Amino acid sequence: MILDEKYNKLRAEVREIALNVLTPRAADADENMTFPIEQFNALAAKNMLMVKYPAKYGCGDMDTLASAIIAEETARECLSSSATALVQMLSGDCIWNFGTEEQKMKYMPLMASGKCIGCFALTEPGAGSDASNMTTSGVDMGDHYLVNGTKTFITNAEFGDFIVAIVKTNPDRGARGLTALILEKGQFRVSKHEDKMGMRASNTCEVVIKDAKVPKANILGKAGQGFVIAMSSLNAGRIGAAAQAVGMMQALLDDSIAYAKERKQFGKNIGANQAIQWMIANLATDLMAARQLAYHAATLADSGKPFALEAAMAKVFASEAGMKHAINAVQIQGANGYMKPNRVERIMRDMKILSIYEGTSEVQRLVISGSIMK
Ligand SMILES: Cc1cc2nc3c(=O)[nH]c(=O)nc-3n(C[C@H](O)[C@H](O)[C@H](O)COP(=O)(O)OP(=O)(O)OC[C@H]3O[C@@H](n4cnc5c(N)ncnc54)[C@H](O)[C@@H]3O)c2cc1C
Repeated sequence: MILDEKYNKLRAEVREIALNVLTPRAADADENMTFPIEQFNALAAKNMLMVKYPAKYGCGDMDTLASAIIAEETARECLSSSATALVQMLSGDCIWNFGTEEQKMKYMPLMASGKCIGCFALTEPGAGSDASNMTTSGVDMGDHYLVNGTKTFITNAEFGDFIVAIVKTNPDRGARGLTALILEKGQFRVSKHEDKMGMRASNTCEVVIKDAKVPKANILGKAGQGFVIAMSSLNAGRIGAAAQAVGMMQALLDDSIAYAKERKQFGKNIGANQAIQWMIANLATDLMAARQLAYHAATLADSGKPFALEAAMAKVFASEAGMKHAINAVQIQGANGYMKPNRVERIMRDMKILSIYEGTSEVQRLVISGSIMK
């Protein structure tokens, strides 16, 4: 796919921010679990957080393909920074697609400028892939919902100004009994900080909601539409996750080629061995395929066509190929690849999350088979 010049220009701009702001902080942020707020603000300063929404709301006025390129180039240098920004857009998508004009005007400009950090809360201790099995309740009290429950693995929660929370408002109606509510700071509290294998600078928390009185003005869409809203945002988020895998695969390719050309054993560069060449050739091939899948899904979204199937395909392919090649990239660098701070070491740990969050690989396959076998 040949990209229009405006995307090449955007890529160069993101790349500059990534190299200047993300790269120098990535290893330390990973080691110390430092929330990437400077990185987030640097993206905000160039209006890259909410790039796909209109300028009228203070946003970047581009599209899903542009947001994929930002996810790709940021993840190439630091997945934690990329994920922090991606979740901003995940919660933004809920507001943009289902919010009232008033809600859009209230949140979108602040989110674009980075002054307001959004979170998206679907998962619960007992409800992961089977999200509709949640127990967080929203009891209709007339002018508000009384919300109680626990959400788990919530990205950005400690720094979040609001959460788009999916809660059960009608227990008899299964997935159709869920409602999306905007909970403001003070209506939720962090009860646990997670310590993770990878993507360690991204903030992941358990959140408790206790007797929160959420006004009905904070409903997104309609009562009962929560599941649709969550799935719709996750579908778009999967394009971002696929693009993140693409960015990290590009980093693996760059580092693998450089190392293969420089490291000498048995009197020659290790890259002169076919075993190494083939690992690199396979990585380059899967990288190109993954990038095309991600851009294709983004282009479908931008032309208003259904894209859930293609987004699931892009995510499952890119994340699984990415994991395989991350292991190979460490192998290519031998002991050095296993040491910190080495980017391939971090990417091998970071990459694993991409086949878990925004729906596991198994869930993507359910989406794919459900779509093509119906
Ligand atoms: C770092 C991180 C950040 C996250 N951020 C957020 C966030 O911001 N907001 C949020 O709401 N959630 C978030 N999550 C949660 C994430 O979306 C869930 O972890 C994910 O949906 C899977 O749920 P689970 O972990 O409970 O796994 P489970 O659903 O318990 O699944 C366990 C295993 O069983 C498999 N499985 C389950 N059902 C089936 C089936 N029907 N067929 C085949 N296999 C199946 C799964 O694929 C998986 O391999 C985050 C998770 C992590 C790790």
